[in-house]
Amino acid sequence: MQTPNQNKVIVRYPPSPTGNLHIGNIRTMLFNYLFAKHAEKQGSDVKIFMRFEDTDKERSKKEFEYTALEALSGLGITFTDGPYRQSERTDIYIQALQKLIKKGLAYQAEKSNDGSGDKVIRFKNPNKKITFTDAIRGEITIDTTDFGDFVIARSLVNPLYHLTVVVDDIDMGVTHIIRGEDHITSTPRQILLIEALGGTIPHYAHLPLIIGKDKKKLGKRHGAITYQEFKKLGYLNEAIINYLALLGWSEGNDREFYTISELEEVFTLEQVSKSPAMFSYHKLDSINRHYILQLPKETYENEVIKYITKPVQDYINAENEKGNKTVVNTLLHTIIKERIHKWGDVPAICENELSWLNKVGQINPEKLIWKKSTKEDTKEHLNVVMELLSNISNEDWEKSYDTKCDVENEHCENSAIKKAIWDYASKAGRGDVLWPMRYALTGKDKSPDPFIVGFILGKEETLKRLFTSKEIL
Ligand code: GLU
Repeated sequence: MQTPNQNKVIVRYPPSPTGNLHIGNIRTMLFNYLFAKHAEKQGSDVKIFMRFEDTDKERSKKEFEYTALEALSGLGITFTDGPYRQSERTDIYIQALQKLIKKGLAYQAEKSNDGSGDKVIRFKNPNKKITFTDAIRGEITIDTTDFGDFVIARSLVNPLYHLTVVVDDIDMGVTHIIRGEDHITSTPRQILLIEALGGTIPHYAHLPLIIGKDKKKLGKRHGAITYQEFKKLGYLNEAIINYLALLGWSEGNDREFYTISELEEVFTLEQVSKSPAMFSYHKLDSINRHYILQLPKETYENEVIKYITKPVQDYINAENEKGNKTVVNTLLHTIIKERIHKWGDVPAICENELSWLNKVGQINPEKLIWKKSTKEDTKEHLNVVMELLSNISNEDWEKSYDTKCDVENEHCENSAIKKAIWDYASKAGRGDVLWPMRYALTGKDKSPDPFIVGFILGKEETLKRLFTSKEIL
C-alpha cells in the first residue's frame, strides 16, 4: 500500500458491540495491528484508534465492549487511542449533517409514502463511477447510480452508519482502512461522503472472507467462532494469533509458526490473498499443540491440572502422597501430553485413555483373545507374562519410566517391563501376548501401551489384574 505520506499511518478497529467478537473481526484487527506495527518499524508515526460503533442502540451492549477489550488484551492486539464510542460523538455527526444540508448535498425527505410525516436525511447522490485502488484486489470501479439517494440519518439528530464511519475516519485522520470484503460495497458510498465533506480519501484493503469447510461464510454452525469460545475450549493466545495470521496471509513460504512480534516484522498487505481463507479447526489444533509443547513444565502442569477429571485427580493426589513423582509425571507428561491439542481435550483423554486407573473395567473373556489366538494360548501367555514380571525387582519397576519418558521419547526404551517381556512377545507373537496383557490391565479396547499402564499401576496391582483376567478365561 503506497501512502502519500508514508510517515503517518493511522488505522482503526471499529467493532459494533452487538455480540462477542468473532474471529473474522479479530483477524481484521490483527491485520490492522500488524500493518501499523510493521510501518512503525519502518519509521512511520503510527496511531491505532479503537472505536465502538454503537449507533444501533437496541443491539449494542456494554458487556460486548468488555468482552472485545478482553479479547484484544488477551491476544496482545493493542491500540494507541481510545476506546471511543460513536454514541458519545453524536454532536460531530450532527454538525457534518448540517454542513451537507447547507451545501445542498443532503436533504430531508419523507421516509415513505405512508403519510406518517417521518423525515429521514438522504444524501444527494451525484450518480457517478467511483474508482479506488484496493491493496489486495487492485483497481475497483463501482457505479454509484444503483444506490440512489441513500439515507444517511434517520432524523436530524440520528445519524446512520455510513455517515458516522466517514465522519470518524476523517476526524481521526485515518490513512488506511483495512476491513472485511463484505464492506467493499460500502466503500463507494463512503468515498462519495468523504468527497462531500472535503476529506482525504484513505487507502483501502478489503480482506478475504473466512469460510468453513462447506465454503460458506464462517458462522455459528461451524463450531466455535468467538474469542471467548476458543478460550473455553482451551486454546492458547499465541496459537490463536499465529493461526489467525495465516488466515489469508502467508509470507510466501511454508513457514507455520510465528509469534506476534515476528509477524510485526514480516507482515505486508501485498501478501494477503484475494481468495477466501478456509478455517480449519484441525490446523488450529496442530498449531496449538506446538505451543503447548513449548510451555515450561510448571506452566503446563498448572493448566492441565485444571482440566483433569476427578478420578484422575484423586489418583494423582494419592500418588503424590506416596511420593511417586514419576507416576504423576508419566500421567501428565507422557500420556496426556502425547495426546493433547488443547486444554479442553484433557477431560476426554482422562475418560477415554485413563479410565482404568482406579479400577479395571468389566473384562469380557472373549475379548482377551487376540485374533487367531486360542483360549489356551492366551492363558499360557498371561502366565508367562506374570512370571516374567514377578522377576522384576520393585526398584527396577519403579524406575521403569522416568521424566525422560515424555513426549520426546515416547517409546521409553528404559522400560524394565518392556525389556522383561519383549523377547517372549516377539517370539510368541506380539499381538497374541501384548493384547491380552493390555486388555487385562485396562478392560478397554483402546488405551496406552501395556508397559506404561503396568508402570503406573505398580507391580502388585498389575499382577493382580493379570491374574484376575487369567482366571476368568
Ligand atoms: N462496525 C463495522 C463492522 O463491525 C466496521 C466496518 C468498517 O471497518 O468500516 O463491521
